[in-house]
Amino acid sequence: MADLMPYDDRDGFIWFNGELVPWREANVHVLSHGLHYASAVFEGERAYGGEIFKLTEHSQRLADGAKTLDFEIPYTVAEIDEACRETVRANNLVDCYVRPIAWRGSEMMGVSAQATTINLAIAAWDWGSYFPIEERLKGIRLAWAKYRRPDPATAPARTKATGLYMICTIEKHRAEREGYAEALMLDWRGRVAECTSGNIFFTKGAELHSPTPDCFLDGITRRTVMELAEKRGYTCVDRVIMPEELKDFDECFMVGTAAEVTPIASIGDTTFTPGVVCETLLNDYVATVRPKAAAAE
Ligand code: PMP
Repeated sequence: MADLMPYDDRDGFIWFNGELVPWREANVHVLSHGLHYASAVFEGERAYGGEIFKLTEHSQRLADGAKTLDFEIPYTVAEIDEACRETVRANNLVDCYVRPIAWRGSEMMGVSAQATTINLAIAAWDWGSYFPIEERLKGIRLAWAKYRRPDPATAPARTKATGLYMICTIEKHRAEREGYAEALMLDWRGRVAECTSGNIFFTKGAELHSPTPDCFLDGITRRTVMELAEKRGYTCVDRVIMPEELKDFDECFMVGTAAEVTPIASIGDTTFTPGVVCETLLNDYVATVRPKAAAAE
C-alpha cells in the first residue's frame, strides 16, 4: 500500500454540478443522503486516444439508474456526455478512466429524501499502462464469493447503484486476502452470475457461453464482446450456467470497462487454459476501443 496516492489530494479539475472546480475542493458534507442511504449511482468509463468509448451508453445507464433509484439527474444525457468530455479535456488526459457519480444531497437526513438536491460530479484520471497482452494471457485466478447477486425483487440489481457494491468490496477483499485476483459471484438462485467488477464468459469450441444478465449488469463491454465474437463467427449463447458445469468449458475470461478482456486461469479448483478465443477477442477489443492506433499499425 506504499504507493497510495489519495484520491482527494491530486492536481486537476473535477466537474461538480456544472462547474469545473479544483480537484481538492470537490467536497461533500458528511450528512449527504448518498453517503448514509446509498442514494447514488455511478459510471466507470474509459477514454482511449481522447475519446470516451461508448460514452452515450454510459450516460444513459447513469440517467436510467438514477430514475430506478427514484431521482432525476438535472442534466440531459447529451449534457452528461459533454460534461464527461469537458472533464477529460480540462485535465489534459488522453487515455484515462472517467468516473461520473450522481447522489442525493444533504437537505434531508432520513429515509425520506424527497426534497434533497441531486448532485452530479465527474472526475477523470490517468489509467497508467495495463498488462501487455502476453502477460494478460496467463490469466488471473478467481475465488468463489460467498455473497450472491440479489434477486431483482430485493434490490435495483441491474443498475450501477453504489449500494450494490458493498458485497463486491467484501468479496474482493476476501479473495485478495487468500491470494486471488478476483471473485466470482453466484446469483440468489445459485447460478453463476458475474465477478465483483465485470461480466464473465466461458468457451466451448467456437461457442461463447455467458450467464443471462437478469439480476446483474448487462455490461457495455459484454455486449461489445458479443458483437466482436459474432463477427469472428463464434456463436454466443446467453443461458443459465450452473457452477457444476465449469469443468466442461475450455476457456474463460472476464470483461468490463476497467478489466477490458481479462483471461481467467482458474476459478476455485477449476482450471482453464487461455487460448485462441481469449487472444482473438482481447486483440479485437483493443482494436475496437483504439481504432486510430490499430489503423496506424
Ligand atoms: N458487473 C459489475 C459488477 C461491474 O462493476 C461492471 C463494470 N462496470 C460490469 C459488470 C461490466 O460493465 P461494463 O462493461 O458496462 O463496464
